[in-house]
Amino acid sequence: MEKIYKKETDQIVQDFETDAMNGLSTEEAAKRLEKYGPNELDSSEEVSLIKIILQNLNSVIVYLLLGASILSFLMNDPVEGVAVLIAVLIAVVFGVVSEYQAATSVESLLELVTSETVVIREGKRQTIPSSELVPGDLMYLINGNTISADGRIIDSSNFACIESSLTGEAESVEKNADPLTDEESLSIGDRVNCVFSGTAVTRGNAYAIVTATGMKTEIGHISEMMSEGEHSESPLNKELNQLGKLLILFAFVAAILVILIGLIQGNELSSVIQIAIILAISAIPEALPAVSTITLARGMRKMATHQTMVKTLASVETLGSTDVIASDKTGTLTENQMTVERVYLTNEAQYTVSGTGYSTEGTVTNDKEQPVNLEEDEALSEFIHAALLASESELVEKEDVNEIIGDPTDGSVVVLGHKLSLTREKLENATYTLEKKFPFDSEKKYMMNIYQEDDRSHLFIKGALDVLIEQNQSSEENQRLEAINEKIAEEGLRVLAIAKISDYTGEAEEEAIEAHMAEQGLTILGLVGIIDPPRKDVIESVALTQQAGIKVKMITGDHPKTASVIAKEIGIEGYEQTITGTELDQLLAETPDDFYEKIKDIAVFARVSPENKLQIVEAYQANGLTVAMTGDGVNDAPALKGANIGVAMGIRGTEVAKDASDMILMDDRFTSIVEAIKEGRIIFSNIKKFVYFLFTCNMIELISIFLALLLVLPLPLNPLHILWLNLVVDSFPALSLAFEPGEGNIMKQAPRNKKERLVNWPFIQKIGLSGLIIGISSFLVFLYFFHHYDQVELAQTAAFTSMGLGQLAHIGNVRKENHFGFSPKNFAENRYLLGALAISFALILSAIYLPGLNDLFHSVPLQPIHWLIIVAQVIATTILVYLAKKVFIKREN
Ligand code: ADP
Ligand code: MG
Repeated sequence: MEKIYKKETDQIVQDFETDAMNGLSTEEAAKRLEKYGPNELDSSEEVSLIKIILQNLNSVIVYLLLGASILSFLMNDPVEGVAVLIAVLIAVVFGVVSEYQAATSVESLLELVTSETVVIREGKRQTIPSSELVPGDLMYLINGNTISADGRIIDSSNFACIESSLTGEAESVEKNADPLTDEESLSIGDRVNCVFSGTAVTRGNAYAIVTATGMKTEIGHISEMMSEGEHSESPLNKELNQLGKLLILFAFVAAILVILIGLIQGNELSSVIQIAIILAISAIPEALPAVSTITLARGMRKMATHQTMVKTLASVETLGSTDVIASDKTGTLTENQMTVERVYLTNEAQYTVSGTGYSTEGTVTNDKEQPVNLEEDEALSEFIHAALLASESELVEKEDVNEIIGDPTDGSVVVLGHKLSLTREKLENATYTLEKKFPFDSEKKYMMNIYQEDDRSHLFIKGALDVLIEQNQSSEENQRLEAINEKIAEEGLRVLAIAKISDYTGEAEEEAIEAHMAEQGLTILGLVGIIDPPRKDVIESVALTQQAGIKVKMITGDHPKTASVIAKEIGIEGYEQTITGTELDQLLAETPDDFYEKIKDIAVFARVSPENKLQIVEAYQANGLTVAMTGDGVNDAPALKGANIGVAMGIRGTEVAKDASDMILMDDRFTSIVEAIKEGRIIFSNIKKFVYFLFTCNMIELISIFLALLLVLPLPLNPLHILWLNLVVDSFPALSLAFEPGEGNIMKQAPRNKKERLVNWPFIQKIGLSGLIIGISSFLVFLYFFHHYDQVELAQTAAFTSMGLGQLAHIGNVRKENHFGFSPKNFAENRYLLGALAISFALILSAIYLPGLNDLFHSVPLQPIHWLIIVAQVIATTILVYLAKKVFIKREN
């Protein structure tokens, strides 16, 4: 079969039985979807319940418990054997449910941002989920789109794609519809009349017919070849696993010791092994994996209510350690509501413009405060003609607030036109015919359009003055313009220069035009000063961020002066320190080693290119900082990928930027980033709290058992007691810790050092100390009951109750860093806490008093006097832990 890229477009249309104008019919599309299946890659990770169950079964905890159960059966204790099996079931079900829920909630959140494609079906342009694309569909692709199927271009305008995901080539590739006639078969990168799934449009637009979907696409072939990628584990999970392994090792060594000592003492092998298994069970925080998954997933959902979509559980945690937020200026820190306030013509005339936002109410007055009239002011007329013809946006007049469709910067020019009673439409109807558009490019920082007037062509250009001035030949004029530019920028206004080339005779191609400009220059007609007010909530958020020790960097394509003034207005520290993209490039070329030192305190990065963004990210990262970087354009993707937290804009952002990011700001607001960071910090501190809690509980059990072994006494707990405590009783309070609101100072502390581990020395000391005190104290209760009543089962019941209650009371010491966590106000802060404590208490009681259950636990119902002793001991112990923590543990922050 002849290659798709060698055929004429008509042939393609025929082959795929479609229509170059109207696309497929809805029916035909449905039929084909049935036939070819959804446009998805197989490897795309679907949540598989079976996989999650298998993963949960395959764990050390499960093996140990199964071993214990088998042993119970062997030792003729089938009741205990079955009970341990039930415990295994509980552990697995708990794990599976929490993980499945987390995974599906991630999935459903991600569905909000699944890709969509514009297609023509039944002659109508419509947006469909990309998964419903079928061969023969007519796609309409524009700048910023991610392409979701392979296709052949049948019509295009100024179209280019970036295909680095397939070809590794970082440069955009120009594409058009022409058939390629090479004899040989061409590699993907050379098939310039085709588009490929997984790549992105960087310029222009095109119509393309889908030629392959799903696994039949080029990227499908590649993904088929690659073995399933490693699932990267979050740093937190890694650390928890390491910690868990350490504890198991600890228990293992202890168990071997116990076995040896037991054998030397002449005990029976089977009972010695049973003790060893009990030790192991008590060392493992059975509930920890489930609790941490649930906490992170909950954090993710909570962030979603703050308009931030975090894509992975790991990012939830990374967010908490952010050191630097590098944020776009326009639209994120500012409103992106542009209004022209001032006009300066090259002939030195000046005008002031009144009115706010996109309202067309307002007048243009000259320096004598007289309203102007275009008929009498030829220079202004020429200027506004050019300004309108070099713009793209449409103004939609509404009853309440006018809207701009397209770029807000252009919008401000369109509104200025209205204030002078002129629109692009009027001009186009009267004299000018559009010949070709060259859209705004944030790298070039200008845009232009070619119009025909009668049989003459003119170029209308609009962009940053510093760029256009290079083509202007009058140096005296340039000096003057630059001075005005500075002056406007110092007021915090965004400056646009308007220029024109009359009677252009060259080709309507970018290169030809650039060459012409370089040779013949252009005529700069004047400047506009545009106000874009800072967002109201930003000032407070910036203050909060800086209080939290997080640096705010403004990243912008705008003029350094404009940017600096805005940075000052919103209170960014170090706003006086600015640097431009050109200076960054110079630094990197000349003194790369000093790069970081030179930029580390700079707060405003102006006139930057997308490459500069990545350089900034990398420099900060290399110095151990965690960077959140915002972006919206296609060429921001590398910086978004490179940042620890790539933040894409939900409204302004392109799909490519969203794909490359870790987090999407649904409302584009800076404040939402700060909210997410705060949430990330709270989550991290809560994780620390329940890790502290759960490991203390393990310590308590280990220590009491160990003491009993040392003193050659019966064990204070049996395996079921331990499982009941670890799996059932402790889980609820641990989970309730996930709902802690965060302590008051959480945004007043410096960011956590990324290298600092969750489990550092003070933390281990804290666990050790608490475990030791409560463990010894519970053991003393056991000892007392054992000697006083000489009844092992009563003493065990008392020890079990003392540990259970002691653990619940310990929550009071865990909840708050520096004071005791049980007070009416504290309970009101976390409505789950009291409930969790009540449930856990009921569970302890049921193991003692519930007929049947208490048989299983070999419990002896406690009498009031017993309770008195235990409660007094628990209160005393809790106070002791509180004091010991105060005295011995160095505060962590
Ligand atoms: P940012 O989004 O960071 O403010 P941009 O890349 O949008 O930066 O803009 C950089 C410069 O490009 C602006 O200072 C302005 O001079 C020019 N510019 C921005 N938008 C337009 C536009 N629509 N048309 C022409 N020039 C523009
Ligand atoms: Mg912009």
